Amino acid sequence: MSVPVLLVAQWRVEPCSIPHLLFACRGCARTAPFAHTGRFRVNANGARLDVWLLYRCVACGTVKKVTVHERVHKRAVGDLVAFETSRPDLVTQWAWTLAAHRPAEPVRDFVVHRDEVVHPGRIRLAVPHPVHARLDRVLARGLSLSRREVAGRVEDKKALKRPVFDGQAVRLLPP
Ligand SMILES: [Zn+2]
Repeated sequence: MSVPVLLVAQWRVEPCSIPHLLFACRGCARTAPFAHTGRFRVNANGARLDVWLLYRCVACGTVKKVTVHERVHKRAVGDLVAFETSRPDLVTQWAWTLAAHRPAEPVRDFVVHRDEVVHPGRIRLAVPHPVHARLDRVLARGLSLSRREVAGRVEDKKALKRPVFDGQAVRLLPP
């Protein structure tokens, strides 16, 4: 009798969008979500620089500067031209960094990037940015099953109701 090979699948789960930051908005007179505008602002004072990423209230359009670098020496900023020209990859990188360190709106929608393993016995999840999605939703999406069907394939039922996390490993029972 041969022992079946346990196929391990690697999935990457990513939020569909960069989280909006939450600030007290002057225009709305309450806490509101702000989306980044894709623009940095750089202000030089001698050899010292301030760099902000600009955000806009999604409800009323009020613009807010969020500090990226404060009074740092020019040489410490790295690629200054990239900030001055608001290079998109640098904007994205900083938008994620700021969302990780400030109050932000949770992102519930996500995409699953799967590898080639069609009938895995175990799935390893890479979750590079926080996704507020339960494990059963992620498995249902990735396996093209209903959440009920997913519940029949996973022993740890409690884990199914909790959000996914980076490095999570899930054992699947055979169908
Ligand atoms: Zn507003």
